[in-house]
Amino acid sequence: MISIEEARKVILDCCPVLPSRELPLGEALGCVTAGVSVAGHDVPSFANSAMDGFAVRAADTAGAPVTLEVVGTAAAGSAPGVEVGPGQAVRIMTGAILPVGADAIVMVERTAPAGAGSVRIEAAAAAGDHVRHPGEDITAGQTLFEAGTELGPGHLGVLASVGAQTAHVVPKARVGVLSTGDELTSAPGDLRPGQIRDSNRPTLLALVARAGCVPVDLGSAPDDEAAITAAIERGVAQCDAILTSGGVSVGDFDYVKVVLDRLGDMHWWQVAVKPAKPLAFGTVRGTPVFGLPGNPVSSMVSFELFARPALRQMMGQRELFRPELPAVADEALRRHPDGKVHFVRVVATTDGEGRIHVRRSGGQGSHLLRAMALANALAVLPDGAGVEANATVKVMLLT
Ligand code: AMP
Ligand code: MG
Repeated sequence: MISIEEARKVILDCCPVLPSRELPLGEALGCVTAGVSVAGHDVPSFANSAMDGFAVRAADTAGAPVTLEVVGTAAAGSAPGVEVGPGQAVRIMTGAILPVGADAIVMVERTAPAGAGSVRIEAAAAAGDHVRHPGEDITAGQTLFEAGTELGPGHLGVLASVGAQTAHVVPKARVGVLSTGDELTSAPGDLRPGQIRDSNRPTLLALVARAGCVPVDLGSAPDDEAAITAAIERGVAQCDAILTSGGVSVGDFDYVKVVLDRLGDMHWWQVAVKPAKPLAFGTVRGTPVFGLPGNPVSSMVSFELFARPALRQMMGQRELFRPELPAVADEALRRHPDGKVHFVRVVATTDGEGRIHVRRSGGQGSHLLRAMALANALAVLPDGAGVEANATVKVMLLT
């Protein structure tokens, strides 16, 4: 058996960051920037009003209340066309250019109508009041984001605000998912004797999507060398990485092994972990291939431990691993020493003091998918006897 860390090291060494490219902003959400982004112009690019109100000369309002002559209106999106002279004001809307001569805005709530063409200013304004200055948010030439920044909604807005049409990013990895096994069906209706429904493929496709990648459904192949070969070839042609499930343990009809050994450069591991002990990893013509175990919980845990960090690395992410935090075991989580790290499916909740508490989400067999689905964390039990109730246990948060 090899340790989780040893397996991860080999995997991460074979999964370099994908080549970067320019993507339209509309396609860049969740992508990681491949270089620094620099502002082409100031934001705001002109002095403008932060309020609906009146643009004034602050000095004119010193003896408030005062009455000023209203010489025009400034709306957002158009040039003012009027200047504010001594004793004058311009009615102004939020976002409109600050008229020449004015140095402050009095919000409309601090004014009252004072007959045709006039406004009464009820409180003195200071120069700069409610004025947004050029470059206050962003200055031309400023570094907006360092390389390695994951673009969220706000980042895309910032890029749009300086006129960027595209972002220079690491693209999302296209990840193929292939199920293998003669017993699998995805068709509705009754099951034939021995048949089971293919649950790994929808699960893995969803895990891939959640990891920020583009899932590519490679379908399900029977335990047949030619069918598996064809599916892997299809995957290699169109994907940045491939996940297979099933056929990597020591069964008699595990043709995944035969095919991947022929096509690629593979490791066949027994990892010191439970669940998810069997794992195949390697490359087929440079494309990383993860041969995940067929048992549904094992394939999910294996994805979390090995595939997700590698896919994140390929997409330029800096934080590869799920956060691991201390939690209180609300019940004993016992195990037997076997040289492996056990990952126990648990429900994690937070108490009033911000402490995390965990309880088993259900049975721990590697075929018990529902208990995995109900879990939002995995309690990490190093080799040994486990933990008693109320003891501290490390948990890997899955959400
Ligand atoms: P294998 O790794 O092929 O020996 O499969 C181990 C167990 O996982 C067997 O009980 C399989 O029937 C089951 N299994 C394999 N693939 C899938 C799948 N796609 N969906 C649900 N169960 C599966
Ligand atoms: Mg099988």
